[in-house]
Amino acid sequence: MIYPIQTGTVRVKQFQLTGAKNNLSRLYQLLLTKRWGEWMPIYSWLIESEGQLILVDMGETARIYEEGYLPSGGPYHKAVQTKIKKEEEIPTQLKTLGYKPEDICTVILTHLHGDHIGGLEYFQNAHIYVSHAEYEVATSKKGPKAGYFKKNWPDWFAPQLIQYDDRAEGRFRQSYRLPDHENIIIVPTPGHSVGHQSVIYREGGSSYFIGGDLTYNLDTLKAEIPNVLMFNQDAQDSVRKALDYVRSHSCVFLSSHDWSAPNMLKANGE
Ligand SMILES: [Zn+2]
Repeated sequence: MIYPIQTGTVRVKQFQLTGAKNNLSRLYQLLLTKRWGEWMPIYSWLIESEGQLILVDMGETARIYEEGYLPSGGPYHKAVQTKIKKEEEIPTQLKTLGYKPEDICTVILTHLHGDHIGGLEYFQNAHIYVSHAEYEVATSKKGPKAGYFKKNWPDWFAPQLIQYDDRAEGRFRQSYRLPDHENIIIVPTPGHSVGHQSVIYREGGSSYFIGGDLTYNLDTLKAEIPNVLMFNQDAQDSVRKALDYVRSHSCVFLSSHDWSAPNMLKANGE
């Protein structure tokens, strides 16, 4: 089984959903206009597999309203806005499904942006996976400028860093298979962030492609519009590989910010 868990909403500039002619146009729309897109959900995904609970991403935190948690100025607030109430954080959402954070044994993080690791403080006992490349950049000097705020992480956070092996999965030349869960495959989908990764989950006759922030929704996937601020060839390649995989394996495509994702799950019998 796989369940969507919504923790608040987010919006970005419209061009991130529709694409743009070139980087100059992107920069103009990012910094000088207020052309925001619609508010979108922030989803994490709870997978029940082999009697274990596996979480993909951790959603947003209401700590964003604490002074100093997010940068006070600069381009950050021109690029992204998020809203969440304390009671929308992940522990409350898990409770409605009958679980508590301690029940989660494994967490796979698509990447380390704030709206995907907001619930970090609740998962000290879980085995947490992040790609090696993502952790490197997030903990480097460049981190804060690239939208990573290590100062907000708990001291104990020392995730297992994934090194992919050469087992191909569709057009993805490398992958990582979760120990004891052959039906959960992690593939590198860099672009939105340097070490962004996606999760493929198989159950019965169904396949799910959990794309994180690879692209915003099924329509932008089909239009091959990656979720990026500036044009990025890696992101373009990742979206094409994902689209090819989703089509050839008839996957349900689950983006972190797609309102229609829960309906796609329901239509698939979840
Ligand atoms: Zn992101």
